[in-house]
Amino acid sequence: MVEPKTEEEIALLRENAIIVSKTLAEVGKTVAPGVTTKELNRVAETFIRDNGAIPSFLGFDGFPAAICTSVNDCVVHGFPSDYVLKEGDIVSADIGTLYKGYNGDSAYTFPVGEVDAETRKLLDVTKASLFKGIEAAVVGARTGDIGYAVQTYAESFGFSVVRELEGHGIGREMHEQPGVPNYGRRGKGTHLVNGMVICIEPMINAGGRGVYLARNGWEVRTADRRNAAHYELTVVVRHGFAEQLSTFDFIEKDPTIKF
Ligand code: MG
Ligand code: MG
Repeated sequence: MVEPKTEEEIALLRENAIIVSKTLAEVGKTVAPGVTTKELNRVAETFIRDNGAIPSFLGFDGFPAAICTSVNDCVVHGFPSDYVLKEGDIVSADIGTLYKGYNGDSAYTFPVGEVDAETRKLLDVTKASLFKGIEAAVVGARTGDIGYAVQTYAESFGFSVVRELEGHGIGREMHEQPGVPNYGRRGKGTHLVNGMVICIEPMINAGGRGVYLARNGWEVRTADRRNAAHYELTVVVRHGFAEQLSTFDFIEKDPTIKF
């Protein structure tokens, strides 16, 4: 049985979600050809700390940076590095915060300059699959309904769903029950109840669904070396709808950010 959050807890999770959402936009303002992924990390860490929060990924199971920056065939958990972003790349930023004892966690994949049509489609479909999942996250549904919605949408475009990683509940811990897979069957999985707070985070590959773990033990990469995209939002399960706590509005309403 997964305990729903109280409205007081949800208010604190919302504060975190807004900090994370704004941090993603700061990263988006910085993404450009010629910028290193280390610089994205620096901008994010500074912004998080300036807002009184702690970058929760730093040191989590030994993760070496404040945020994950995953370029091209890197699906998730990329290490910020001296890699210089170039025109046509994509970079996923995944960001976590700890603030007032609660966690925030969201992700966005940014194009670097102009990307090719296939990559553009991967970004659009992955983000849209997230919103399909969010639409399914209502009281009375189950986690399998979310996964089914994400999977059927993404696969209808010929893309594939990474199965080794999944979304999750969030609260005092960054990763709580229930697990929220991005594939599944309708009517299966954990029952969704009012006030449950979950992160839905499709990881979608342009090619096959196979992935491998890099030698650093963290970076998850596509087996066929084709691109992967990752978008994540935190939502509250409600009667008839899912209430978004984090948002992409700070990114998509800022005319200076290319998304
Ligand atoms: Mg995340
Ligand atoms: Mg997450």
